Amino acid sequence: MNVQAKVRKKHIPTEKEAEFLSKVENAKYDRKIITGLQKFIDGKVDDDMKDFYSQEEIDAIAVLKGTNKDIEARMPVKITRHYFERARVSAPIRTLVKASPAETFDLAGSEDPGKQMSYSPVEGLIHKYELGLIYVAGTCSAHCRFCYREELIAKKEIVREDGSIQAKGLAQIPDLVEYIIQHNKEVDEAGGIHPETGRERLREILMSGGDPMVLANKGIASWWAALSEAGIESIRLGTKELAFFPQRFDESFFKMMDDFHASYPQTKLRFMIHFNHPDEFLAKDEDGNYIDMPGGGLKWVEDTEKAIDEFGKRGFVTVDNQAPIIKNINNDPDALRIMQRELRRKKVENHYFFCGRDIVGHKAFNVPIEEAWNILNTSQRGLSGVEAHARLSITHYYGKTEVAAVTNEPVPGIPGGENGVVIFKLLRSAEDAPKKGQVAIVGRNPDAIWFDGYKDRVIMDDAGLFSTKA
Ligand code: SF4
Repeated sequence: MNVQAKVRKKHIPTEKEAEFLSKVENAKYDRKIITGLQKFIDGKVDDDMKDFYSQEEIDAIAVLKGTNKDIEARMPVKITRHYFERARVSAPIRTLVKASPAETFDLAGSEDPGKQMSYSPVEGLIHKYELGLIYVAGTCSAHCRFCYREELIAKKEIVREDGSIQAKGLAQIPDLVEYIIQHNKEVDEAGGIHPETGRERLREILMSGGDPMVLANKGIASWWAALSEAGIESIRLGTKELAFFPQRFDESFFKMMDDFHASYPQTKLRFMIHFNHPDEFLAKDEDGNYIDMPGGGLKWVEDTEKAIDEFGKRGFVTVDNQAPIIKNINNDPDALRIMQRELRRKKVENHYFFCGRDIVGHKAFNVPIEEAWNILNTSQRGLSGVEAHARLSITHYYGKTEVAAVTNEPVPGIPGGENGVVIFKLLRSAEDAPKKGQVAIVGRNPDAIWFDGYKDRVIMDDAGLFSTKA
């Protein structure tokens, strides 16, 4: 397809939409972002950032440049000043953003994790479940090295369903609105279920990327209003901006959100935030310890607390945290316990923890599945029921799957269960969810970091997780 020649459709806002958008103000932000390693190599960063990479680290990365193990070609390097301040007092946070040669030692992995392109009827939309996921931004304020959207952020060319090879594109409002209206019309005409896919109406959209919070207020507002006008009842926005640049959640942003709610009160807003480790939002004393607050809880980083408290004042928006468990970052039950407790104290729901995806280079980041289950389970000891809502999920091609249980003891009388078993449960399945709630039981393999580590020890598989490629 010749992208250049493609004619862009135009979205014509309704009167209500235009009135809301006329009130939105864009503020200017200076995230003080350092992009790429070259500035570190050339010493063209602030004096206090010069030793962020040692000469040894820089040399080890530099020899890979231009080879098939090029670190920046796999995933571009980026950090904000705010995140640097967190990183300087935290080894896990440094690991999260610092490029390392280990990332490209083994490049095994999927170029299109979750086979998303199989479910992309419109550029930038993944319509796999009952909700649609849209890519609205191709970058974030900083970049996590383990990013499971590295193909989008690094603009890698991937094979499409039609055999063409192109980078993933971003969603456009007119295309999305047209698709939602048409899909829902076909569902309504067929009596509530789509005649081809078996799906119901598209009621929910997750704005993702990259990070939608890199857009200006007007960009976010335009999406919200257009989606609401198209009949979307619930808009989710996935963001790590509270960790990378919490100052983005300023007065102008919350005013826009309040104005949106006043214009479209029926549309629910859900923020899916992404904290990996409490060091991203908790203040530390000179000895590197968290600071107890009189009356309970720990002291937060001021700007992050201000933003999270503003969310908490608004009943029409919910905030949920979800994060992968990554080697040398948050494979630490104590850190996860503190994080879950502190987030709940600030009205943030602990939604999912994830096993790392099978992205290119995933072996550098992924914790074995059974170890991740053990870390989360241990972290939830001592938490109250409401603090311990999070489940461990691993994303299969079929859909989101819970690692529901790992047994320590042999399961008597069950061939394959001599070393204990792992129970997977399908939480969401694509299209009309025929297998939702079904389970697969496999013999344990403490080294497995993906489904294929169990394919030789399947005991039962009602969910079909091992009869199709993950
Ligand atoms: S915030 Fe999310 S999309 Fe952005 S770099 Fe990190 S993992 Fe990737």
